[in-house]
Amino acid sequence: MLSSVMLEYLSVGINFEQGEDSDMKQWVIFDGDNTLWDIECLYNQARQNLIKELADLGVCPEEAEIFQRMTDVELFQSLGYSQERFPKSFSKTLLHFKPLSSDLDVEKVEEMARTVFTSNPTPFKGAAKTIHWLKRHFKIGLLSAGPRQSQLRKIQHFCSGDDSLFDAVEVVSLKTPDVLRDFCLGNNINPSHSWMIGDSLKHDIKPALSIGLNAIHVNSENWSELEVDGHLQMMGFDKVGSIEEILGVFEEKMELA
Ligand SMILES: [Mg+2]
Repeated sequence: MLSSVMLEYLSVGINFEQGEDSDMKQWVIFDGDNTLWDIECLYNQARQNLIKELADLGVCPEEAEIFQRMTDVELFQSLGYSQERFPKSFSKTLLHFKPLSSDLDVEKVEEMARTVFTSNPTPFKGAAKTIHWLKRHFKIGLLSAGPRQSQLRKIQHFCSGDDSLFDAVEVVSLKTPDVLRDFCLGNNINPSHSWMIGDSLKHDIKPALSIGLNAIHVNSENWSELEVDGHLQMMGFDKVGSIEEILGVFEEKMELA
C-alpha cells in the first residue's frame, strides 16, 4: 500500500500552464558542494596529506584516518560547516598522536586542511549542460551551505563568467526547513511545483520535502556520516546516480504531464 507521502508525491506534476506571467514560478533549486561540483576529492586529498605526514612520524595510517574523521564529526556539533572545523580536526589529530608537537607543526597541518577552501573544485560532468537545458522550462536557484567567501568563490568558478546561469543564489550556514521556506518566499517560488536537487538526504532532501518541495537526490561521494547515515529509509523523492541523469527524470515527467 502506498504511504500518504507517496500518494501526495504521485499527484505532483509539472505545471506547464505556469508561464512567465504567473505570480508563482516553477523552480529547480540546486545544492552546490558534491551536487554540482566535487569537493569530496579535495577533502580526501587534504586528509591523505595529513595521514602521510603522521605516517612519517610513525603513526598508523588507518588509526590516523579514523581519529580525524571521528573528530571532524564531533566538531561539527559545535562548529557546523564553519571554516574553523576541518583545520581543527587536523591539529587535534596531530596532538592526539604527537602531544609534544610544536606550534609550527600544528600550523603546518592546519594549513594542509585549509587547501580545501582555496582550491577550485571540478564541476561534475554535464552539470552546466543540465542547468542550461532546465533553464528552458524553469527558473534556476542555487542554495549553497558553507563558509560564505569559500562558497562564493566556488560558485564564481562554476559559473565561469556566465552571470545569468542562476536566477537566484544564496549562501547559508545550514539548510533548515526555515531557510528553504525563506528562499521560496523571497523568490516567489511555488514549492509544490518546484524541485530541490542535492546530495545530502539530511540537509537537502529532508528539509525540502518538509516544506512541500519536490526533491531529487543525487548519489555522490560525500561526508556520509553527516549527510546520509540514518536517513536511508526516507521516501517520496527521485534518486539519480549522477547530475547528468537529472535530464532523464525531467523528460519522463514532461511525457507524463
Ligand atoms: Mg552538498
